[in-house]
Amino acid sequence: MQCRLLRGLALLTLLCMGLLSLRYHSSLSPQGVQEPPGLSPPSPLSPELRLHDVFIAVKTTRTFHRSRLELLLDTWVSRTREQTFVFTDSPDEGLQERLGSHLMVTNCSAEHSHPALSCKMAAEFDTFLASGLRWFCHVDDDNYVNPRALLRLLKTFPQTRDVYLGRPSLNRPIRASEPRPHNRTRQVQFWFATGGAGFCINRKLALKMAPWASGSRFVETSALIRLPDDCTVGYIVECKLRGHLQPSPLFHSHLETLQLLGAAQLPEQVTLSYGVFEGKLNVIKLQGPFSPEEDPSRFRSLHCLLYPDTPWCPLMAR
Ligand code: UDP
Ligand code: MN
Repeated sequence: MQCRLLRGLALLTLLCMGLLSLRYHSSLSPQGVQEPPGLSPPSPLSPELRLHDVFIAVKTTRTFHRSRLELLLDTWVSRTREQTFVFTDSPDEGLQERLGSHLMVTNCSAEHSHPALSCKMAAEFDTFLASGLRWFCHVDDDNYVNPRALLRLLKTFPQTRDVYLGRPSLNRPIRASEPRPHNRTRQVQFWFATGGAGFCINRKLALKMAPWASGSRFVETSALIRLPDDCTVGYIVECKLRGHLQPSPLFHSHLETLQLLGAAQLPEQVTLSYGVFEGKLNVIKLQGPFSPEEDPSRFRSLHCLLYPDTPWCPLMAR
């Protein structure tokens, strides 16, 4: 009875709020004038997305602080300093000096196990939730992020939608066993974005993920389905929330043949990568300004192509 009364009151409050907001909106536009779509000024309630609204988390580990992270700090992170946070497992004075409070030393162990990797993803997710920013993007320490292309892509999604964006790891959904009460299991299948190519989630969706992803729950969810961190994100979005991965061809890992990307396509790509694949160095194909010996990942050359005003880029590139 009390419950029904409360529900009645809640409905009345919602109705009043709805009427108030209708009044508010109608007072914003001139009476009877329908503005054509696209010509109206941006709504004050959701201003146009800026890079400052995006949270970028980089996952790393102590063995890669010198060999991988410094390259990122010299290149793309220099353009996104304010929104980039580096999640690692060990303190490092040199990195601390360059990153300040943006170096996040977690209590996660320095190993390549599912729990250790999920522990870092959990720290990334919680720091994002606390930041209040509009987009969460995760990348590995062997990814190049082009902030210009990232912003261009994220701007195409309305804030009203739940968005999970990235490159599908496989060409079919992955299967997992979900433990159920009374020693039963349920077979589930879902798509997930491969962590090695980076992925993004908007705040609206991230808030809904919190019951399975915040605090200690991300590691627990990952242990439950016995899959790594990136699969766990897909599981939460698709199996728990009935959401969908939005596939994007603009995210790249070193598990694909990176040489196939044409030079003209490179500036549009949101993420790139480098690494060894099937025993060979897998990198993007790009002429200069640095030689493959000076710049084996090609990230320095790419950065000078995209941002020629960088002080260490040769004048020719500027
Ligand atoms: N990584 C980590 N702890 C480890 C090994 C790797 O956090 O013990 C991170 C690493 O810094 C990178 C990601 O996990 O951001 C993927 O590692 P890597 O590129 O070496 O392996 P891949 O899975 O791409 O083959
Ligand atoms: Mn990698």
